Amino acid sequence: MIDLFSDTATKPGVGMREAIRKAEVGDEQKGEDPTVNRLLDMVAELTGKEAALFLPSGTMCNLVAIKTLTQPGETILVEQLGHILRMESGGAALASGVIVETIDSAHGQFSGQDVLQAMPANMVYTPPATVLCVEQTHNFRGGTTWTVAELEAVAEVAHENGLAVHMDGARLMNAVVASGESAQRFAAPCDSVWIDFTKGLGAPMGAVLAGSRDFIERARRYKHVFGGALRQAGIVAAGCIYALEHNVERLQEDHEHAQLLAEGLSEIDGVRVTNRVDTNILYFDTTGAEMEAAVFQSAMQARGVSFSHVNDLMRAVTHLGVSREDIEQAVETAKLVLNGRSSRS
Ligand SMILES: *Cc1c(COP(=O)(O)O)cnc(C)c1O
Repeated sequence: MIDLFSDTATKPGVGMREAIRKAEVGDEQKGEDPTVNRLLDMVAELTGKEAALFLPSGTMCNLVAIKTLTQPGETILVEQLGHILRMESGGAALASGVIVETIDSAHGQFSGQDVLQAMPANMVYTPPATVLCVEQTHNFRGGTTWTVAELEAVAEVAHENGLAVHMDGARLMNAVVASGESAQRFAAPCDSVWIDFTKGLGAPMGAVLAGSRDFIERARRYKHVFGGALRQAGIVAAGCIYALEHNVERLQEDHEHAQLLAEGLSEIDGVRVTNRVDTNILYFDTTGAEMEAAVFQSAMQARGVSFSHVNDLMRAVTHLGVSREDIEQAVETAKLVLNGRSSRS
């Protein structure tokens, strides 16, 4: 099976499993797990923040960060297709009691002016806005990246108006590799930032939230509240350390594969790639080839290639479990399914 469904499909390889086997462990919630502590130091340094907190998932990083940065009844600003709004089962509302105000955009990035427009007027009647969320890379806009300048511009407006800036950096390292900018520069305008180890980095579990010492101390309480305080979590953190040491630079291959896939698919009559392919995600429309997304998806699945589909669009995500040959094979299969012919025949 060629699995382009998601980069969450990555499985720990031999080297990562060996690192996990050898992990030194301790009681994580007492701060006594040496492997977790090493990972936290690494992520704090990587992102240029004072402190960091280990959590089981990216979803919990968003949940804990928003809880730490808000009071019930406040407003957070999230891009229209933001993961926090669309894919976290209403966690921000449930756990933090916040109102989500959306900012629309073409590719997931927006301007300071857009932030001002989305902010509720400053009146006694209106819910005060206290957090601006940004997503790097933006998942449902196609893995698109913010530039440092774009982030600085929105953060400046947010901070001037008393809002904290939270970065959902599930795929921050994809943005780092694609742009050549450091994680520190992307994180600098943000008050909180996290990275996920279970996407392209290929670890089985784990995410790390970073920010000021004060922010992390307050966030630690909610880690406990939400059941994210762990015991011998070094077993998991060892996989995350291995990922940082071995799986970052290779993200470049995933980005090249996404480009190759975009080019191959665009050559098929009636297929249109709909996003800016900055990193490892692409969306495409097959309706021009007179095939609905769901029909295309199951025909491809039957031939050993799996994609997801979001509404009328197909989504493909490249990752370390997908080779260049797999991409070529996926394009050939798509040609066969959509146009009933193969360039090899
Ligand atoms: C996957 C993802 C999350 C959630 O991370 P999990 O580790 O799956 O809980 C949050 N935000 C974005 C942008 C994501 O892609």
